Amino acid sequence: MLVQLEIFNKKFDHITSVLEDIQQRDDNIYRTIFEAEPLPSTIRQAGIGGVDRYSDLEALSNSELVIETAKRLDKIAKQVYVQSKSFDEVISMAKRKEEMISSIPAIQPVSNKDLRRVASPFGVRMHPFYKVLKMHTGMDFTAPTGTEIYATGNGVVADVIHSARGYGNTIIIDHGFSYKTLYAHLSKTLVRPGQKIKRGDVIGLVGNTGMSMAPHLHYEVRKNDEPINPINFYFNDLTPEEYDKIIELAAQSGQSLD
Ligand SMILES: [Zn+2]
Repeated sequence: MLVQLEIFNKKFDHITSVLEDIQQRDDNIYRTIFEAEPLPSTIRQAGIGGVDRYSDLEALSNSELVIETAKRLDKIAKQVYVQSKSFDEVISMAKRKEEMISSIPAIQPVSNKDLRRVASPFGVRMHPFYKVLKMHTGMDFTAPTGTEIYATGNGVVADVIHSARGYGNTIIIDHGFSYKTLYAHLSKTLVRPGQKIKRGDVIGLVGNTGMSMAPHLHYEVRKNDEPINPINFYFNDLTPEEYDKIIELAAQSGQSLD
């Protein structure tokens, strides 16, 4: 009996060190990747309640060692349970991350293989109508009327506006995670509010509606409803060289088409 208990305890030593390694990986890798706090050790080391939980074992020979062994076994079982719960959480965070990656705008809104379609970047620019310096809250892509416009991330159509003024015919997509995109001056809209959209779906056609100098797409990325520079959101379909080129092209163009 004594020898067997000692063997058990040796095995527990091994299991405990394996478990510690798993816990460390959970905290250091998985929880870091998904930007979650490490599990507090008070939760990991959660004790087993009840003082006379092991009283039945007191009558046995070598009772002290038996009780000690039983306690270790309970503790390990509890820690394995906590660890398994933690992995459940990590899995659900991973699923959410996947959803986030496919939702955030990450491609260009028009086919731009030759990279000649950037007319005007985000930032302060000479306004084409007012001829004064004015903030340009999006990026302009020159393209013939009728060119297909792609949704840049998964989401839901938040608004479809038909107008002859300002942004002209406009589509706004809500991507969740506090991101929205806006597509303006369209000749035609091909979606309706509430419609679910996948990245790359054709949502409308380039036009010259509203306050626009020439056929082009005015494209905005908004985070928490504030326009931000769309140039940082093409990471899915540009190589680093293409990215440099697009920045250079955008910088060369003097005037926005609005
Ligand atoms: Zn514009």
